[in-house]
Amino acid sequence: MAKKTALITGITGQDGAYLAQSLVQKGYRVIGGTRRSSILNLPRLAALDLVGQIELVTLDVQDFTSIMRLLQEEAPDEIYHLGGQSSVQVSFQQPLYTAEATGQGALRFLEAVALAAPEARLFHPSSSEIFGQNIDGKVDEENDFHPRSPYGVAKLFAYWSVINHREAYHLHASNGIMFNHESPLRGMDFVTRKITTTLAQIACGGQQELILGNLDNARDWGFAGDYVEAMWLMLQQEAADDYVIASGETHSVRAFVTLAAAAMGIDIVFEGEGLETCGFEKKTGRQLVRISADFYRPSEPDPLIGNAAKAHRKLNWHPKTDFEKLVTLMAESDLQRARNGQVWY
Ligand code: GDP
Repeated sequence: MAKKTALITGITGQDGAYLAQSLVQKGYRVIGGTRRSSILNLPRLAALDLVGQIELVTLDVQDFTSIMRLLQEEAPDEIYHLGGQSSVQVSFQQPLYTAEATGQGALRFLEAVALAAPEARLFHPSSSEIFGQNIDGKVDEENDFHPRSPYGVAKLFAYWSVINHREAYHLHASNGIMFNHESPLRGMDFVTRKITTTLAQIACGGQQELILGNLDNARDWGFAGDYVEAMWLMLQQEAADDYVIASGETHSVRAFVTLAAAAMGIDIVFEGEGLETCGFEKKTGRQLVRISADFYRPSEPDPLIGNAAKAHRKLNWHPKTDFEKLVTLMAESDLQRARNGQVWY
């Protein structure tokens, strides 16, 4: 049987790298669309030893003709549109760019698929950020939407665009409503990776303190390597649909810090409240964690916990990595890098 071709936009990001790895292992021909740049952003693909195993093509997702040309030339069987501005924090500083890249960017891709590759199956990563208020227990596909960030608003526009194109043009297009998913390849501007890289520097005698925002905020965190399997499973179904992908547990930023520090042999205790909270190393009394209002956001969703029962039932998707294993994996990986003197983004 001929190899299936998968096109991944945003292949240089965390999810792009894990998904590419999984698809290569499944025997796909993987094409990765990347923005033109004089320096290619390949550390994540290199970390998974993928650079020679995938085909990188220049793709500007802002440029409609560039998408059309690629779809016509490559006729992919499956498309994973992972490109876009992916940080909630950044979306407060760049709301218009986020609306364009993350919201309209998805619609542009859908339009191109409808015109140039209507038989292809498309995955779109929506986000738990489309929910945010009116939360009563765990959130599933039936919950009301109420985004609390420009990123969430853009993702909701994209979410409905996928459904509209599915209904209007009969595209096989699915939304994964992805709750937070992390890994040693996560971007440094997300809190989990900021914590593990900074603590690793502290453990190795480099950086002195970790400065964070609200420690009591909580997220439903899973492992990106597990979550990309759900993306693939969605495209193997006869009918396209929308699925919450989540761990079903929530943990605070404070719990993440405590566990990551413990995995590096540092026992942290917290004192004080709100902006006055400080984290100390128990053994020495040295202050390691400080809070800054700079990392508080203008608005936040209510604590979100996802209910992935539909994905368990219909996709037979079951994540393998629990919270403790995830934090340990990230902490150990960044400690190793810090010991080797590797600066890694
Ligand atoms: P998000 O859920 O996509 O916004 O993922 P983040 O990792 O950026 O943020 C997760 C939570 O951590 C949010 O509630 C943030 O407000 C909170 N947080 C606390 N301190 C920080 C920080 O220093 N950086 C970031 N990015 N988030 C922080």
